[in-house]
Amino acid sequence: MYIQDQLQEIKAHIAAAEKRAGRPEGSVKLLAVSKTFPVEDIMQAYADGQRLFGENRLQEAMSKMPEMPADCEWHLIGPLQRNKVRKALEQGFGLLQAVDSLRLAETISRIAGELGCTARILLEVNVDGEESKHGFTVSSLQELWPQLMELPNLEIQGLMCIPAPAVDPEGARPAFRTLRMLAEELRARGPLPLPELSMGMSHDYAVAVEEGATIVRVGSAIFGKRDYGGSSL
Ligand SMILES: *Cc1c(COP(=O)(O)O)cnc(C)c1O
Repeated sequence: MYIQDQLQEIKAHIAAAEKRAGRPEGSVKLLAVSKTFPVEDIMQAYADGQRLFGENRLQEAMSKMPEMPADCEWHLIGPLQRNKVRKALEQGFGLLQAVDSLRLAETISRIAGELGCTARILLEVNVDGEESKHGFTVSSLQELWPQLMELPNLEIQGLMCIPAPAVDPEGARPAFRTLRMLAEELRARGPLPLPELSMGMSHDYAVAVEEGATIVRVGSAIFGKRDYGGSSL
C-alpha cells in the first residue's frame, strides 16, 4: 500500500505545482527512480499505473528490465562509460539522461549509427559548476553546442541536472532556473526543439515543476529510504 499511497500523493503535488505555475495539467512526467529497490516494489508501482522508471546503473537496469512488463519505459539516469554504450543502446532505454561530455555523445552517435538506431539523450549540465561533478558546465555547453547539434543518429531531447543537495527545496530554485534559461537559449539557436527538462528529485520536485521541469526523477519519496548495503554509492 505504501508505494501506491506515495505515488498518489506525489502526483497530486505535481498537479498542484503545475497549477501554481500556470502550466497545463499533465505537462510533467513522473520518473520513478527504482535503483536499489527490488522488482516486487517496482511491480507495486506498475500496478498503480506507473510505467516510467529510472535506474542509475546499467548492470542493475539490465537485470530488472526483463523482469518487468514490456510496456514500461526505462531511462538511464546515471553516468555511462563509453565502453558500455553499445550495451546500453542494445538494452533499449527510452532515454539516456546523463550524457555528460562531447566524447560520450560522439561515441553514442557512432555506435547508434552502427546499430542502425537513433539514440534519444539528454545532456547533463553541472549547473552549480562544482568541479567534482559530472556534466557540461553552462559555458562549455554553449561553446560545444554547434558540434553537438551536428552529431548524427542522436536525438537531443533536452537537458538534465542534479544540483548540489540543499537543505531547503527552495535552495535548488536558482539551479533549476539556470537549466531552463540555458535550454531557452539553445532553442533560440535552433533548430532543435529541446522539449525536455529533467530536474527535481524527492525533496525538491515541486520547485522544479514550478521552474519548468518536464520530467521529475523521484526515488525515495515513492519507494522509501534506500539501503546501499554499505556500498559507497
Ligand atoms: C537516485 C537519483 C534520483 C532520485 O533521488 P531521490 O532523492 O531518492 O528522489 C534522481 N536522479 C538521479 C540522477 C539519481 O541518481
